[in-house]
Amino acid sequence: MDDNNSYYEVLKRWRKNIPDKHNGSYRRTWDKAVSKQSMRAAVDAKCQDCQCWQQAEVKRCDIITCPLWQYRPLQEKDGEREKAVRGHLQEIQRLEGTLVEVKGTSFPRSPI
Ligand code: SF4
Repeated sequence: MDDNNSYYEVLKRWRKNIPDKHNGSYRRTWDKAVSKQSMRAAVDAKCQDCQCWQQAEVKRCDIITCPLWQYRPLQEKDGEREKAVRGHLQEIQRLEGTLVEVKGTSFPRSPI
């Protein structure tokens, strides 16, 4: 890798494309993620990047097959759609026998 494409230079160029909105919060979140300070920040930054730094789009994201969907920021935990998707996923897992019942509460079965 030459100097222009060193990891640091690539990050520096990428960071310049992050909008300086909300008092720099997008950049701070991304900084925390790439410096390995926070997994939460990594998910938040990925979702913000994925939706072109539009919070409303992150909130409305309907890519329910994305592995980050259940963890994305700004979701309405008790929103109709979130509840419907969770119920649907639980039903699929139950039908496939991947949930174990423990005193009336379902937990995903360990993959190991
Ligand atoms: S959950 Fe949605 S916004 Fe977040 S990375 Fe996945 S598709 Fe993008």
